[in-house]
Amino acid sequence: MIGLGIEGTAHSIAVGVVKKEGRKCKVLSNLIKIYRPEQGGIHPREAANHHANNVADLIKESVEKSEVSFEDIDLVSFSQGPGLGPCLRTAATAARALSLSLERPLMGVNHCVAHIEIGRGTLDNCKDPILLYTSGANTQVIGFAEGKYRVFGETLDIGIGNCLDKFGRAVDLEFPCGPKIEKLALNGEKYLNLPYTIKGMDIAFSGLLTAAMQYFKSGEKLEDICYSIQETTFAALTEVTERAMAHTEKKQVLLGGGVAANKRLRGMVKTMAEERDASFFVPAKDLCIDNGAMIAWLGVLMHNSGVRMSVENSFIDQRFRTDMVDVTWRE
Ligand code: AMP
Ligand code: MG
Repeated sequence: MIGLGIEGTAHSIAVGVVKKEGRKCKVLSNLIKIYRPEQGGIHPREAANHHANNVADLIKESVEKSEVSFEDIDLVSFSQGPGLGPCLRTAATAARALSLSLERPLMGVNHCVAHIEIGRGTLDNCKDPILLYTSGANTQVIGFAEGKYRVFGETLDIGIGNCLDKFGRAVDLEFPCGPKIEKLALNGEKYLNLPYTIKGMDIAFSGLLTAAMQYFKSGEKLEDICYSIQETTFAALTEVTERAMAHTEKKQVLLGGGVAANKRLRGMVKTMAEERDASFFVPAKDLCIDNGAMIAWLGVLMHNSGVRMSVENSFIDQRFRTDMVDVTWRE
């Protein structure tokens, strides 16, 4: 079965084509165009305009690159949520139009669940991981239990990527700020105390963000602040992930989301995994960030398990939660 997926939850419009080979996902193409605001954060309407201007070409290029023809596509999937309304609607509209014109079924999928399934689908031996999903807007620790992907812990305010970007913007770094902060942190020498906020298994970042900005105003070295932000937030994320692993007795951990590119975060989670005799997985970079292949793949899994969606019922859901999805494709 060959699936095409359209991702459009936030800053990226992306189209991927995948093929199901046994239980594994073969990615045939995975193209992405990222909206970069000239200043400030993402403006939903402007991001949606960007997506609308690019989606048709991206679909064409992605199908060409995959070396299949439009007739070979068996299913059209799209990111149904969570995300920014105007962006979600743009991707959904493109998917509906494509599904109707190709006369192929349509499938709306949950973006966060897609992040976990692409890891399971493309990485050998990654079967039942706890996912630490760290992106711009989302930060969740997710694991499968009793028919659903349960959220064991999540941010109570902003996503970790958003925290890094907000701090970066305040100190004049270019967007996306995560990679710049990572580089600066390498030259940090002094750990500055920052609020380490875990409530139950949830995390909060906004207090830390305010404190970090105050350090900057009071003249602390930017490298030291970046280092301290990374050490504090990543330690908190790793702690909650470990607690979810202990609670569920899972022996695998998977990273996902744009912040998973960070070597320090990878290192901390890997060390934690090693200390518990667990395996550590990260998907290829283009499958870690928001991408169309993961949307296509989850659509294929859902379709094969019998899920069907009519165009009339393909509404987007800005607040589509991970644990709202009935996981029909796993034992
Ligand atoms: P996503 O929303 O999953 O596409 O991820 C985007 C987020 O990842 C942005 O907030 C970036 O700042 C962040 N990001 C990307 N690369 C890195 C990195 N090397 N270290 C930390 N954050 C990163
Ligand atoms: Mg994402």
